[in-house]
Amino acid sequence: MTGTVQLIGPATRRPRDTASVAQSHASPANVVVLDGRPLAAKVRAQVRRQVGGFRRRFGYVPVLAAVIIGRERASRVYVEQILRASRLVGVDSRVVELPRSASADELRQELELLNADAQVAGIIVQQPLPRQIPLSTLTDTILPAKDIDGIHPLNTGLMTLGYEGFLPACAEAAVEILKFHGYSLEGRRAVVIGRSNVVGKPVQLLLVREHCTVTVCHRRTRNLADEVRRAEVVVSAAGSAGLVTADMLQPGALVVDVGINVVRGGIVGDVDFDSARGVAEAITPVPGGVGPVTNAILLEHLIRAARWQKTGHPITAGHGRKRRVA
Ligand code: NAD
Repeated sequence: MTGTVQLIGPATRRPRDTASVAQSHASPANVVVLDGRPLAAKVRAQVRRQVGGFRRRFGYVPVLAAVIIGRERASRVYVEQILRASRLVGVDSRVVELPRSASADELRQELELLNADAQVAGIIVQQPLPRQIPLSTLTDTILPAKDIDGIHPLNTGLMTLGYEGFLPACAEAAVEILKFHGYSLEGRRAVVIGRSNVVGKPVQLLLVREHCTVTVCHRRTRNLADEVRRAEVVVSAAGSAGLVTADMLQPGALVVDVGINVVRGGIVGDVDFDSARGVAEAITPVPGGVGPVTNAILLEHLIRAARWQKTGHPITAGHGRKRRVA
């Protein structure tokens, strides 16, 4: 986390050394299930306090705006979860619904209204966008100061150079969940499956920031199983149910499943959890892993955005902080 909320201090970290990870491998009985809910609750508690402070200082509660286009079940579930999390921290939320057939201009107009609304501190837009709306509609229109899911090129640039901005919340969650559970990432070989701008690429950058040695895999990777087998840390963000199976993992691997797939009416990840838990040292469940942390981090971004809109962004105010990673 780069903002004012400090998720975990050194005192709460319980780094495990590589040898103990390798030995403690590997049975369904002792696999560590990386539950995202305690971390999400911790972040929300911090945000709730900050929202109270913001209201006392500025006299209103910041608003989170969620734009959904179309009414697929996955979008509805996603937005409902964010709204629930918003209520828990005391921020107001607003949902803007557009039909699946909406044009790029219609989305642009809605975003411009939200940009201009001083009470709206942060805007998220459910992706993927329908075919007729290019992603550039979103990235060209949303104000970087309200871009709490880190998709604007300015935020991407800040992330790449290690300055404080808004990281894509899901990518941030994928890394923070490992750190929260006490895993040191320094020096580990990591594989990221997926290279999207929203998840795969930022996860890669954030893992490098944590001093991992990272390989990025995608649809054209020749032998995914071989690449994954070499990894001590596997982050799957492909959106393909059952893509990662136990035989692809090395004993003691740390597995973060970012995938959200609707299968027979339920939500599953990319990793075959039941087989993988027999090999992995630790694994995130789906649901209940990365998802709740992502939502909580979005709210942390929201309150930071609200504050920056009132007091000046560190970069524009001339005191931007940069992490040193060579
Ligand atoms: P995307 O479709 O834009 O990108 C998927 C990436 O995975 C691509 O780079 C593609 O090359 C790669 N890929 C797909 N199938 C593959 C295969 N068989 N082998 C190797 N690589 C493969 O999707 P996205 O927006 O990056 O999202 C990825 C997943 O993460 C989706 O399931 C999405 O729902 C989920 N997601 C979760 C959260 C969360 O909070 N947990 C947030 C955002 C997205």
